[in-house]
Amino acid sequence: GTICAAQRTGQERLVRTSLVIANWKLNGDAELLKSFAEHFHQSEIQQHIGVAICPPAVYLKTADVLLNAIGVKVGGQNCSEFEQGAYTGEISAQMLADSGCRYVLIGHSERRALFAESDAVMAGKVQQAQAAGLTPVLCIGETLEQREAGELEQVIEQQLSSACKEVDFENLVIAYEPVWAIGTGKTATPAQAQDVHRLIRNWVATKAPEAAQKIQILYGGSVKADNATELFSQADIDGGLIGGASLDTEQFAAICQAANVKKDS
Ligand code: PEP
Repeated sequence: GTICAAQRTGQERLVRTSLVIANWKLNGDAELLKSFAEHFHQSEIQQHIGVAICPPAVYLKTADVLLNAIGVKVGGQNCSEFEQGAYTGEISAQMLADSGCRYVLIGHSERRALFAESDAVMAGKVQQAQAAGLTPVLCIGETLEQREAGELEQVIEQQLSSACKEVDFENLVIAYEPVWAIGTGKTATPAQAQDVHRLIRNWVATKAPEAAQKIQILYGGSVKADNATELFSQADIDGGLIGGASLDTEQFAAICQAANVKKDS
């Protein structure tokens, strides 16, 4: 079903709650999951914002047992564009849902660049994820070359329109991750990120005006505890997708604390 990220406050203002997602990539193990679970067992931050961990797929069941019970959500890092069949090595969206996932990352720049995933493939993955009841986290972002060539807007809109075919915008998260900022230690400035987040929200508004006010748009790219507050205080930045810094429980927890701000829509 559709889970709405926005809440009405006492004054009936519509606000968006933040979401912080850990992307472990090809890292981590059951021990690291245990350390996360111990930390978040003591913490209440996940009652105030959404927190999710995307470990490698073989650890999803362990993550389900350790984390869902304490309010930390679990996500896959990828899913197949196919529902089932002769696709050796693939994992379907339904299988992720069966393993306790709430989210799945789709179109991470590493999938696009290293595993040749095209925009056309993204649309199928987004549809599979939503059909399985997952919330897809669609990752988009430009390369440095594209930014310097003045192609930023065109690239973002192209990535959005090709991936968002027959999509339910009420059950979608978008992560803006400039490729040049992922794992490089270079973060977009808060103003640079805000500009693109606004562009993304405006694009969603042309397709689904109501959903555009509620959709969570996350920033990703070298977010650390010391730059998170300024990024997350921007009007259209509703949290983060965290790679490297998510492998350190304390640092990830500090980033979650920095995201504890609500946004008027
Ligand atoms: C990511 O992989 O989504 C990411 C943002 O990585 P990092 O935080 O390491 O830049």
